[in-house]
Amino acid sequence: MTYKTTKSSAKSIPIQIAIDGPAASGKTVVGQALSKIIGCLFVDTGIMYRGITYSAIENKIPINNQSTLSKFVEKLKIDFLTDQKNQESQLLINEINVTKFLKRQDVEYNVSLVSNCKKVRKTMVAKQKQIAKNKSIVMVGRDIGTVVLPEAKIKIFLTASLEVRAARKFHELKTSKICTTENDILLDLKRRDTIDSTRQNSPLIIANDAKIIETDSSSISNTVNKIINIAKQNMNN
Ligand code: C5P
Repeated sequence: MTYKTTKSSAKSIPIQIAIDGPAASGKTVVGQALSKIIGCLFVDTGIMYRGITYSAIENKIPINNQSTLSKFVEKLKIDFLTDQKNQESQLLINEINVTKFLKRQDVEYNVSLVSNCKKVRKTMVAKQKQIAKNKSIVMVGRDIGTVVLPEAKIKIFLTASLEVRAARKFHELKTSKICTTENDILLDLKRRDTIDSTRQNSPLIIANDAKIIETDSSSISNTVNKIINIAKQNMNN
């Protein structure tokens, strides 16, 4: 799906869809499905923050020390890849694929603290802008519509109740054989929501021009269809 300019200019403008929302609101699964239908790149920006968190833990970097964390990030070589077949985002840090470690519980627990660091955000936002430049893309995260792609024509904010998000996450972790309770997940999501939405640097907020989609009782395909309809309406305006 591309936007065409007038006949005199044959150039097509890339379609960029920014999807934001709190943890487990369905961004990744919806974004992946949507990008497959549109036939464009899918980027899950959460894995970049998770990758830095994983590396910081492995290198025993004190996560609350912003100055040490900032110097550490400067030295990391971060490469983002997309598996063309299934649109799964992959992350290489210093040329090692770390994707399989990014759902680890210690990463999950610390990621919001790491992503609160100004230098981490600055580095990641620059990288994300560069990845998206002149491309048709579905990008998901917390600050995509507000900071990374403020010019995106289609901005979506996915929401869901804390209970539904905790149940989704519990199911996801159970299939990955990670042992935890639904209540512990709920408390952790609440903690992460608070950090993500109250931090000073690009907090999780709804962009003024974003369309809010509530996903509590909406299936993945239903949510994808709603976004496609929003995109079609946008193209007709
Ligand atoms: O989306 P996911 O749950 O994988 O994101 C993990 C964490 O990364 C979030 O809780 C948030 O702290 C951070 N994040 C962010 N900005 C983004 C994407 C993720 O701060 N664009």
